[in-house]
Amino acid sequence: MNKILDKTCLNPNIILGDEMIKCREEMHNVNAYIPGKPIETVKREFNIDKVIKMASNENPFGTSEKVKEALTNYIENGLALYPDGSAYYLKEKLSKKFGVEQKNILISNGGDDALALIALSYLSNEDEVILSEYSFVRYNDNSNIQGSKIVEIPMVDFKIDLEGILKAINEKTKLIWICNPNNPTGTLLEEEEIISFFERVPKDVLIVYDEAYGEFIKNEKAPKNAFEFFKTYPNVITVKTFSKIYGLAGLRIGYLLADEEIIEIINRGRLPFNVNVLGLLAAEVALDDEEFVNFVFEENLKGREFFYNLFEELNIPYVISETNFVFFETPMIDSRDLFLELQKRGVIIRPQRNNYSRISIGTMEENKIFEKEFKEVLNNL
Ligand SMILES: *Cc1c(COP(=O)(O)O)cnc(C)c1O
Repeated sequence: MNKILDKTCLNPNIILGDEMIKCREEMHNVNAYIPGKPIETVKREFNIDKVIKMASNENPFGTSEKVKEALTNYIENGLALYPDGSAYYLKEKLSKKFGVEQKNILISNGGDDALALIALSYLSNEDEVILSEYSFVRYNDNSNIQGSKIVEIPMVDFKIDLEGILKAINEKTKLIWICNPNNPTGTLLEEEEIISFFERVPKDVLIVYDEAYGEFIKNEKAPKNAFEFFKTYPNVITVKTFSKIYGLAGLRIGYLLADEEIIEIINRGRLPFNVNVLGLLAAEVALDDEEFVNFVFEENLKGREFFYNLFEELNIPYVISETNFVFFETPMIDSRDLFLELQKRGVIIRPQRNNYSRISIGTMEENKIFEKEFKEVLNNL
């Protein structure tokens, strides 16, 4: 076997193929996930005490007050008992709210857990998966962990190229990862395009439809019934999360919606208690607090307009977004340099390839801090 340096570069002393205990060869191709940089790290590294994070698409308005109250009351009674592994009450809530049966829902430890469980259940080193350039990196990671071959399709105008994906399907294709609206570009595939795509994908190819940002969509041409795709297309799995508009990223809770047979199989690989009691309770209460969700939705729209106006003013190319972040290009500075310069000024964003960056929409106060610091960085070039 060829000796290769650990691609994750966490430890240059680790020479893969030479490990003391042999790992699955598939692991040689897996990169450890690099999350958005934490506020505390930037404070320490740059010796500054005021830092804002606009890097991980978290909810800048925090968490519903009703959720916080329910959690506090719950903790009073202690945390000694295991959670309900079947997540009955949360599934019942979701079922009533979105018109799907409990047997078509699986609760997961964040959307990330759902993605990993799908890969674990269906992908092997004999399979190919198709995904889009500039999409969610966990699709690559989970496919690599299983040893599946990745076929990456270039984007067209920062939008997932469904026609390109269709052309790439062959007899080895097992799964297609779709993020709509897409992270990190923010672009939307419309109802008509998605349905036409589902119609043309062979029935034995799984489609993972990740709708982590669905609640932020304003565009009326957006797919309307992502919760029910599996009813018409049993090869489609919809993945959802409470991390974004519901503001529960810290509690790790998400779910997937699929045909009963798929749920039954994925459930076999699930950890017995993959979600904790607080996450379950928080999600139940969060679903009921529509006022909070509507508030976040409206504020996010104002934030999007703010960034469009700012980028227009500065002649910065950007992509229209249906999410809580905006993808933009700084031709005058590499995204890693911009990332660094902004950190020195207490602002964390998320660099992408080349000159592209992604900024999570913050509170209006945070957006204005970004504006001031971003302008200073550009003026000092
Ligand atoms: C945030 C996100 C998820 C889910 O994240 P969790 O915090 O694990 O629920 C899934 N897919 C995409 C594209 C995301 O951006």
